[in-house]
Amino acid sequence: MAGVYLSFPFCAQKCTYCNFASGVFPSDLEERYLDALGNEIRAHQWRWTPETVYIGGGSPSRLEVEKLAGLLEMVPGRPWKEATIEAAPGEIDARKTAGWREAGISRVSLGVQSFVQNELSRTGRRHTAHTVAADVRMLREHAIENINLDLIAGLPHQNIASFAESLDWIERLDVPHVSVYMLEVDQDSRLGRELLDSGSKYGASSVPSEDEIVAMYQFAVERLAHLGIYRYEISNFARPGSESLHNLKYWRLDPYIGFGADAHSHDAGVRWRNAGTAAAYVARSERGRTVVADRTFAIPQEEKFFVGLRLAGGVHLEPAEWERFEAPIVRFLDQGLLEREGDMLRFTGQGILYSNEVLQEFIHA
Ligand code: SF4
Repeated sequence: MAGVYLSFPFCAQKCTYCNFASGVFPSDLEERYLDALGNEIRAHQWRWTPETVYIGGGSPSRLEVEKLAGLLEMVPGRPWKEATIEAAPGEIDARKTAGWREAGISRVSLGVQSFVQNELSRTGRRHTAHTVAADVRMLREHAIENINLDLIAGLPHQNIASFAESLDWIERLDVPHVSVYMLEVDQDSRLGRELLDSGSKYGASSVPSEDEIVAMYQFAVERLAHLGIYRYEISNFARPGSESLHNLKYWRLDPYIGFGADAHSHDAGVRWRNAGTAAAYVARSERGRTVVADRTFAIPQEEKFFVGLRLAGGVHLEPAEWERFEAPIVRFLDQGLLEREGDMLRFTGQGILYSNEVLQEFIHA
């Protein structure tokens, strides 16, 4: 199953924890970006017909519905099996939702992160729990039932009790898909940099400890399972049948083409990535240069483990792979981080908590 990703990295604010190439940019850059994006899609030679579409990268819900429809008209394969748009809570209205449906959108992913006011306001998010509830109602009124809500475990001032409040809202809103991300600490977000520098800005000194974050994540796994929403990938939980078809292709190594700034693609054994910022992407496009910043050959065996192990079902172990990866596999089996059932290899509940470290071992092993 092949898919298409469109990146729209424009947002109303830059959230403190966000490590995407998104941000608040001048409106003229947005116009030029849309021209560049349209040119990139139009110039693409389609080798296959996409079955899924995902529009993300920032807050594409800000995009005027006519402009979004114009972009989607360039993508073959309508009606797609799934077409998702990422939305910032509070940026949804009846006209927009009706326009999305018309343009082929069938799934909406809301960047909620938390339902607790104290946590939201420290990150720069402008919505409240009631904004999210109104958005979900609006989507359902327009027959969009396939809704994902994103949560983060590890926000400043968060603890198990406040995280449980967010999960109470998940239960109340009764959505079929939830993503739970553990806070990422790196140089690409303001909060991450502050944490690495042991500073206190952006609430950094109130970020829960690693153990607390792990406890929140485990709590989410159990609570969501109780609601019939099961983990099918490290960060993704769904009612059976509501798994994201688009995201599954990343972990199953299906082909996908990404258009726009910082978009990644994988097709015919090659991976490539576009220029990382909106400004660099536009500049390359306006000078008539390729927008692709780098290209590498995929290494199927390594990638199969690196991405496939993220799935709850794990990966099917071929004899040659066992031979090649025997040392790390045996070590992780002994440590109780991986488990083997016949030819299937998967993470244990404990192993998921150390997934980054484990997955790294399969690269260049
Ligand atoms: S978290 Fe979402 S809304 Fe906030 S800056 Fe990042 S992409 Fe934009």
